Amino acid sequence: MTTERPWLRLDLPLEERVEALLAEMTLAETVGQTHQMANLDPDAHRELIGSGGIGSSLIASGATAGNERDEGVRVSAVNAAQRVAVQDSRLGIPLLFGRDVIHGHRTVFPIPLGLAAAWDEDLVCRTARLAAAEAGVDGVTWTFAPMLDISEEPRWGRVAESLGEAPVLAGRLGAAMVRGFQGEPSQAGSGPVLGAGTVAACAKHFVGYGLVGGGRDYETVQVGENTLRNTHLRPFRAAVDAGCATVMAAFTDVDGVPMHAHRRLLREVLKDEWGFDGVVVADWDGVGQLVNQGVAADLRDAAAQAIAAGVDIDMVSGAYAAHLAELVEAGQVPLELVRDAARRVIRLKMRLGLFERPFVPATPPASQSRPESRLLAREAAAASFVLLTNNGTLPLTADPGTHVLLTGPFAHEGEALLGTWSLDGRGEDVASPASAFRTRLGEDAVIDDGRFSDRTMHLVRQTDITIALVGEHPSRSGEANSVTDIGLPAGQLEVLRAIAAIGKPLVVVVFTGRPLDLGEVLDLADSVLIAWHPGVEAGPALVETLFGDRSPGGRLPMTFPRSVGHLPSSSLARPTGRPIEAADDAATGRYLDARVVPRLPFGSGLTYTTFGYGPLRLSAREMPLDGGSIQVSVDVTNSGERAGREVVQMYLRDVVADVTRPLLELADWVSLALEPGAVGTATFTVTPAQLSYYDRTMTLRIDPGEAVITVGPDASGGATARITVTS
Ligand code: BGC
Repeated sequence: MTTERPWLRLDLPLEERVEALLAEMTLAETVGQTHQMANLDPDAHRELIGSGGIGSSLIASGATAGNERDEGVRVSAVNAAQRVAVQDSRLGIPLLFGRDVIHGHRTVFPIPLGLAAAWDEDLVCRTARLAAAEAGVDGVTWTFAPMLDISEEPRWGRVAESLGEAPVLAGRLGAAMVRGFQGEPSQAGSGPVLGAGTVAACAKHFVGYGLVGGGRDYETVQVGENTLRNTHLRPFRAAVDAGCATVMAAFTDVDGVPMHAHRRLLREVLKDEWGFDGVVVADWDGVGQLVNQGVAADLRDAAAQAIAAGVDIDMVSGAYAAHLAELVEAGQVPLELVRDAARRVIRLKMRLGLFERPFVPATPPASQSRPESRLLAREAAAASFVLLTNNGTLPLTADPGTHVLLTGPFAHEGEALLGTWSLDGRGEDVASPASAFRTRLGEDAVIDDGRFSDRTMHLVRQTDITIALVGEHPSRSGEANSVTDIGLPAGQLEVLRAIAAIGKPLVVVVFTGRPLDLGEVLDLADSVLIAWHPGVEAGPALVETLFGDRSPGGRLPMTFPRSVGHLPSSSLARPTGRPIEAADDAATGRYLDARVVPRLPFGSGLTYTTFGYGPLRLSAREMPLDGGSIQVSVDVTNSGERAGREVVQMYLRDVVADVTRPLLELADWVSLALEPGAVGTATFTVTPAQLSYYDRTMTLRIDPGEAVITVGPDASGGATARITVTS
């Protein structure tokens, strides 16, 4: 068997196996590897599978699958389809089964924006590893995550799926997610293979999707290559360098050229310049949509443009299956382009070990998350919470006789706390806030009221403290869910005003998939905690945090702007010809009617203690461009009475560069867990590479000259020091 089929020989180098198989494939079979259908049915599509006419399947409910929970993956159908592919087709090439496993599978973790708030690569890696293990048992071999779009646009619902606005944060967390999904690659006899019990990852959406005009999903994008390279491409590069197996093209155009036809970025930058040898997959019908975008006359034209641009798999449009073979025969598409796409798909299948292990083992899928998985979910949820303001009301004390009013639209919620893109989560798995409070305080001490209406005021008067659980439902975030108003949803602020007017302690917990304009809420409440959409362990994580068993340790991974009129508002700002200092903002700022600085800066967040920063210490003031480095340290003192975690952030600025460079760009961070009174030292290594950027000619360079280092608790500033990069 293996002598007839040398591609099955594990003693051969992987590339040799790939070529051996490719050499056997007919044009139709080659095209087959580039064709992906949704929800492949082993009966209805038996002939197609048996003919080698399809290479992969996506298991999803439809075009915006993240908004609906479906029946899940049927392992029996996966195995049945695989059996046809492996046993009945001429070459026996196994199929890939993809699914959006975005922030957990059955065990749902916080939405990615929440996970990012933990600023913790190890945590992100562990959540992805667990998701891969659960999804793998269900027959999934490929997930469409991490999402690495950089956005300054809270109106855009998809920021919920992102890892925040800073390229370094998103890149490092994205790479950690890739390692979690794919495991540490090993160098088997036949070349690098992904770890067992893992799934292939997919960095998406390549590239610029976060810049959709007006925050309207799918809108056109205006951006130049320099900004793409210095900002938006960077997390993708980090994911590719971490070995990410696949990349998904973005729906949008970039300066007029739709990404599914963007030869320059997909083929020349991603594949040629970066050496990416994995698979580029289209987004849902992205190839077909070239017709809607008005750059392709019909599906045939779309197929020709997309394959030339470097899209290897056509997700659901059918354009490749219908037209590629004929385009090759007509001499309009070089055969080698199609062979290269198929080569990449085959390579991925070999890296995943699918030829050796095509079937899902007969382990019954867990009917619910295991206890240790739930503990990880609780840890992740608690780590994602960001405390925005607190006058000492938190942490709560469970004094006997205290009556707590739990109110607001999320008091009883389960399913809504899973967030967007939690396809395999189940509402019944979620521990709701109300149940967790009861478990903690006993039945009699908690009054809960999900109505959040005039009756609520009556209850506020009867109880000692109000915990208002407000915010947006996940159906207001995620794909195709953009908004023009980033305040709390209708009516919530009015009720909060009325509660606050009674004058009793008020804690507001905000569930959200995006940064919100919380200006007035921050003034009304004694304490405000951002809880994102926290996943299956929402209730216990919240109770443990509010009562101080855990201290909130999250920091905002996206700027919270002053208002929708301030957008874009972020930490990505670059210098203008007429700079304004923050102090002058009110008097001479960019707006006549408002200050411009964000309401809550990127990186900010409080905890139950306070920290004091000492001066910066530098190991040197000069850093040779070639191989030099400088150690920067700062002592941080826990000046409060409780233990806590500080996320010490280092920002850099290149003072004179070839193009405008960020005024303050996150370069690194260090987390310090400090007992009361303890002093910890955060030490950073500044390297010339951290100051590298693409210049006017799109060449990566590092400038000799001055740079500014800022170390502080968030992007609004901190202690600074000037260094000189010497040539
Ligand atoms: C989304 C992708 C997703 C794909 C498959 C598309 O609508 O843009 O992020 O991976 O569907 O479900």
